[in-house]
Amino acid sequence: MSSIIYIVVPCYNEEAVLHETSSRLAEKMHSLMQAGKISPLSRVMFVNDGSKDRTWEIIEELVAGDTLFQGVKLSRNKGHQNALLAGLMTAKDHCDAAISMDADLQDDINAVDEMIEKFDGGCDIVYGVRSERKTDTFFKKFTAQGYYKLLAMMGVDIVYNHADYRLMSRRALQNLESFGEVNLFLRGVVPMIGYKTDKVYYERAERFAGESKYPLKKMLAFAMEGITSLSVKPIRFITSTGFVIFVISLLMLIYSLVRYFMGATIPGWTSLAVSVWAIGGLQLLAIGVVGEYIGKIYLETKHRPKYIVETYLHRDE
Ligand code: UDP
Ligand code: MG
Repeated sequence: MSSIIYIVVPCYNEEAVLHETSSRLAEKMHSLMQAGKISPLSRVMFVNDGSKDRTWEIIEELVAGDTLFQGVKLSRNKGHQNALLAGLMTAKDHCDAAISMDADLQDDINAVDEMIEKFDGGCDIVYGVRSERKTDTFFKKFTAQGYYKLLAMMGVDIVYNHADYRLMSRRALQNLESFGEVNLFLRGVVPMIGYKTDKVYYERAERFAGESKYPLKKMLAFAMEGITSLSVKPIRFITSTGFVIFVISLLMLIYSLVRYFMGATIPGWTSLAVSVWAIGGLQLLAIGVVGEYIGKIYLETKHRPKYIVETYLHRDE
């Protein structure tokens, strides 16, 4: 018995790519079905994340034209991670495994075959990993690498060079549901689930059309989110820095006292001013980091829904 595979594609203002993406996905899915590798009940689910262009109209047309396609409409824009989660949670009751993929054809569709093979071979989670970053700018490559290192330093278990192109089995999805955080950083949370996992390597292409929905500002916020939602090391780091500074100031005190009793006057102004500024700056930074976490606690305690599904369009034969 071949398994039912759902491909979940979050879409925000993707009218420029949807036709191409849907026809390539249809081709792939139909050929997999014909080869008997996946069940004919497999589907492609587009999640419209509150797009302002014709994205939803295109999805409606696709659903009307082919039973392969399904559409989930969120009540408003909720961001990539939440849109993805909405799709996965809708899919999980109907499929044996779901594959999440970007709408812009940056994730190589051909990697799907290998993901499904690994799933059939007993893996619950299969990560799509970029084998190279040819298409990224130097800046993106550099910052991404630094960021993965930083996350590793913070003790976060994350798959290097993996974005959100992955296959998850039904039971892995059911477990994902029990992660209650409002601010979800899927890349960091999924490895916590466990089970047998594997990787599939692919070359990341350039965006087929349209522009990135992750401008620098959003990317920075996302990066910050990744750290604060998965690690408390920054707060611990503050504590140890504070301790080190305290020890240094004690040493300075002893030094000054010794000099005083030896009769030497302390030419103190410079060192005094410098230390006042240094400690003032550090304190502000520390308060900022702590504030970041308190803000997070505040938002998490509200238990607001991560997304609201307005419509679920699907046709069953
Ligand atoms: N996306 C979304 N909601 C958003 C922003 C992006 O659903 O608020 C989707 C977008 O349509 C795409 C995926 O998330 O399918 C990744 O976005 P994008 O390709 O713009 O990011 P990049 O590849 O540039 O990091
Ligand atoms: Mg992209």
